[in-house]
Amino acid sequence: MTIPESLLQELQGIKGFDKGKFLAAHTMAAPVSVRKHPIKGKDIFTTNEGVLWHENGVYLTERPVFTLDPAYHTGAYYVQEASSMYLGRMLQQVLAGRENLRILDLCAAPGGKSTLIASTMTDSSLLIANEVIRTRASILEENVSRWGYMNTWVTSNDPRDLGKLTGYFDVIVVDAPCSGSGLWRKDANALKEWSEANVTLCHQRQQRILADVWPALKENGVLIYATCSYSPQEDEEVLDWMAATYNTTGVPVPPEDDWGITEVISPTHQMPGYRFYPGNVKGEGFFIAAVQKNEPASSLKPIRFKTALNPKIQAATAHLLQRDDIVLIAGKDNGYNAVNTLHEADVQLLQQAVYLRKTGIEAGTQMAKEWIPAHDVALSIDINKQLPAIDADREQALRYLKREETGIESIPKGWHVVRHNGQGLGWIKGIGTRTNNYLPKQWRIRMDIDS
Ligand code: SAM
Repeated sequence: MTIPESLLQELQGIKGFDKGKFLAAHTMAAPVSVRKHPIKGKDIFTTNEGVLWHENGVYLTERPVFTLDPAYHTGAYYVQEASSMYLGRMLQQVLAGRENLRILDLCAAPGGKSTLIASTMTDSSLLIANEVIRTRASILEENVSRWGYMNTWVTSNDPRDLGKLTGYFDVIVVDAPCSGSGLWRKDANALKEWSEANVTLCHQRQQRILADVWPALKENGVLIYATCSYSPQEDEEVLDWMAATYNTTGVPVPPEDDWGITEVISPTHQMPGYRFYPGNVKGEGFFIAAVQKNEPASSLKPIRFKTALNPKIQAATAHLLQRDDIVLIAGKDNGYNAVNTLHEADVQLLQQAVYLRKTGIEAGTQMAKEWIPAHDVALSIDINKQLPAIDADREQALRYLKREETGIESIPKGWHVVRHNGQGLGWIKGIGTRTNNYLPKQWRIRMDIDS
């Protein structure tokens, strides 16, 4: 791998950069790491080496075919590069002891940061995971469903639309599109496409995105900015631009000394940020910083809103989820979604500015004679554990995920959750001598399962 000389020269002057270590690390493969789901993934990878800065992060000794691991499909873990898990430490400080927050993950697909945020904030808070590119928003939605939190919703909007939600968010995470130099070990294309001109274009786009979304941040709210680029133009210079343009202060979140993470200070306005270099850390290239907004933000007019409860629908769904602080709202295709009653008014409020792709947990649809439970319920952390279920071994689970005959012995008539390692994968229905597989078509794995 030939690293562009111009970038190496630029980095020579930057704190923490060690050319020898950096080049040596680029002759080695990137480490493989995953972040375990704090509820679904408690019992897996228990003896693996941990990521120093995240309690649920672990390294794997080799890269398995994740598609062929049913535990991956239950949402027991998320495959995530280790450096970016530092967001968890930042959030722990920023969110400490705070309830009922509104959090935006503006550039969210495929969902690494959103699933991390969902597992760090309290149940009373609401996370909006947004992705502007439609095709990528579908992947985000799937990953959010798999993670199973009712308080993570998905939108697919331009940052400008989110900016219309003035003063609504307590925390905004901008994991910005960037030149991607930090991912060269994982993505050879990022190296081929890298150029100084592209770094400048990215810098301009990052400023535009931040300017567009800034009005949506509350006074005293915190914006967390991250890139996977080493270029100061996309990192410290963006912090300096924010400090020069808005009334902000930097929020330091120092690492432990022996983690290999470098605390840097932006040259003009002394804003703190954190640099991750392969060779210094067991992870990829990453930059992250937090800034607090010190200026007033106009607030949205509150909406008084109560859903007209439909007793038939409430009764049909009452057995699916084991919580009673939920309300059912109309969803797509005549279905209903369960949302936390605390977030009921947010549905109406958000709909004024954005397109809600996923709101809460899809509960299902009332057909002529029965309630058809939605796939989301089987993946939800709030699923009623007493629902009829069958436990599938690896082979049966993979057949289920291929939408093939599972080979599971005959089951009684009716709906059953298919579980693997105690966690839901989806629904199956016993219809006498046969079973019907209700895995949604778009979730089907297309790989040869004998590999
Ligand atoms: N946060 C994600 C995660 O942890 O899984 C990774 C996000 S990736 C670094 C940046 C995202 O920004 C991409 O999904 C990309 O589609 C999106 N994006 C591209 N152009 C954008 C724009 N103009 N405004 C907002 N987001 C944009």
